[in-house]
Amino acid sequence: MKDYAVGIDIGGTKILMVLIDEEGKIYKKGFIKTGNTEEGERIISDIKKLFLSIVSDFEIKSIGVGCAGFIDFKNGIVRKSPNINFLVEFPLKETLEKSLGYPVFIDNDVKMGAVGEMFFGEGKNTELFIFITLGTGIGGAIVYKNKILRGINNLAGEIGHLTLNKEGVVCGCEKKGCFEKLSSGGAIKDYVIYGLKMGRESKILEKVNDDFEKIDTPLIMDLAFEGDSLCIEAVKNATFYIGLVTSYLINILNPEKIIFGGGLTYGLGFFFEDIIKISQLYSLKIPFENTKILKSLLKEDATSIGAAIYSLKKLRGDEI
Ligand SMILES: [Zn+2]
Repeated sequence: MKDYAVGIDIGGTKILMVLIDEEGKIYKKGFIKTGNTEEGERIISDIKKLFLSIVSDFEIKSIGVGCAGFIDFKNGIVRKSPNINFLVEFPLKETLEKSLGYPVFIDNDVKMGAVGEMFFGEGKNTELFIFITLGTGIGGAIVYKNKILRGINNLAGEIGHLTLNKEGVVCGCEKKGCFEKLSSGGAIKDYVIYGLKMGRESKILEKVNDDFEKIDTPLIMDLAFEGDSLCIEAVKNATFYIGLVTSYLINILNPEKIIFGGGLTYGLGFFFEDIIKISQLYSLKIPFENTKILKSLLKEDATSIGAAIYSLKKLRGDEI
């Protein structure tokens, strides 16, 4: 008989849930908007409602949760989550176990995404790979011999906060010029808005009727594909730093694969090739030639699928 589990991806804008079997097949899937992230009790009760509708007639064994931020995975506590305000020193494991009635295992969302890749995605049968998420922020996780490389505080792989420009913009981590502030979806948007404020011309002004609030990354990408020079420059500035960090990772770790996920990865279209070109330019020849640079096949489900399988493995006592 197959074992089933539920995986939950708790994000600042939405909460995704899947029900899978141990082979990664998705049987049920759903999502809700997170809403006001101060409202912890309401969010936990919304999660319960979605959970009950997803589980319905399935007998599950466990629940896995991937959540952005600094997670004490051993004790099941979210120390701090940058986009979800109620999650400060919050006993998420215990709270969800009481509310949902099953064993719960939690960890960082990017690490859970990497677990999804390890079992069911591009990371399968791969000795050493790095999973990078490009989206509103930038995250990273390193997987070596089917284990997440955690570091002593479970913070290894936090590549989004590498300082690449000491004069740069202040980041959510309180430092300046982080990779995330140069290459995330938000950074691309900021680049365009700054350019417009400096008097640069772009078709985007017409598209949003001069309202900067309406500028978003998908619109910038559309215009970049059409040849708008400010939008192209914003995207190329981002992909330059992504390629540069990729070259550092190739030189430091000599990985077999670097797998990109997160919404921006798919939005980049042919600009994704720039990442490969730049990383080739700045990395050593032999490790570059032996690294495959790929897009994740699990797309937005990587974290929830990873969390679900993680919970099944942890329930059996496996270390991941
Ligand atoms: Zn930072």
